[in-house]
Amino acid sequence: MKLLLRCPQCAPNAASQYVEMNYEGVYELDCQNGHRVLVTLPLQKFEILFQMGSLAFLDGYPREAALDFAAALERFFEFAIMVMLSQQRVPKSHIKATWKQLSHQSERQIGAFYMLYLQSFAQQPPTVDNKWVSFRNSVTHRGEIPTVEKTEAYASYLWQYMINLLAQLKTRQADGLRRYVLSQDVTANNGVTVTTAAIPTMISVLHENVTDSFADSLAVLRQLIEQGVFRK
Ligand SMILES: [Zn+2]
Repeated sequence: MKLLLRCPQCAPNAASQYVEMNYEGVYELDCQNGHRVLVTLPLQKFEILFQMGSLAFLDGYPREAALDFAAALERFFEFAIMVMLSQQRVPKSHIKATWKQLSHQSERQIGAFYMLYLQSFAQQPPTVDNKWVSFRNSVTHRGEIPTVEKTEAYASYLWQYMINLLAQLKTRQADGLRRYVLSQDVTANNGVTVTTAAIPTMISVLHENVTDSFADSLAVLRQLIEQGVFRK
């Protein structure tokens, strides 16, 4: 997935460059006017994966899209765990060492999410419907090629599930969320200008989620593709 970035020093009339998206969120731009700029784009892994899934879906690859959506949910659980632990001011080194024990097993991570949610909100965590757990397993482990309709229904379900939980974290675990996001800040540089950029994503941690459904968000994404903000 490529993303359009502009040199912030030449903005608003800067020449644009496409960059391949990465998890580190740091992109080096070599502008035609001689500026060397580092642009950081603070996005969580689940935001990137859900975005990639949505682009794959619009491109007509439902299987790849479903795999990305499923991966986005797993990374969303990780994100929520980190936010809730940060809310409780658990030292980063302890979190890191403990996470290693579950980093390769998604079932353990879901278990950790459920129990931490229970502790943080004193209520039962929302669970993903078994129908969609089976769907995910069938696509991931048995090579199912899902239909466009079913993939869209799956994405729509996960979108709403994550949007609801994210809204809850934003309002009731705001300190933890801020602390966790700030702990990921990557602005160490070698005399190169660092600028923080923002892009509209299907689900957003740092910005308000303004659409009411997956379908509406997808319509926005279609427009962004037409405007050249994203491309293959
Ligand atoms: Zn420039």
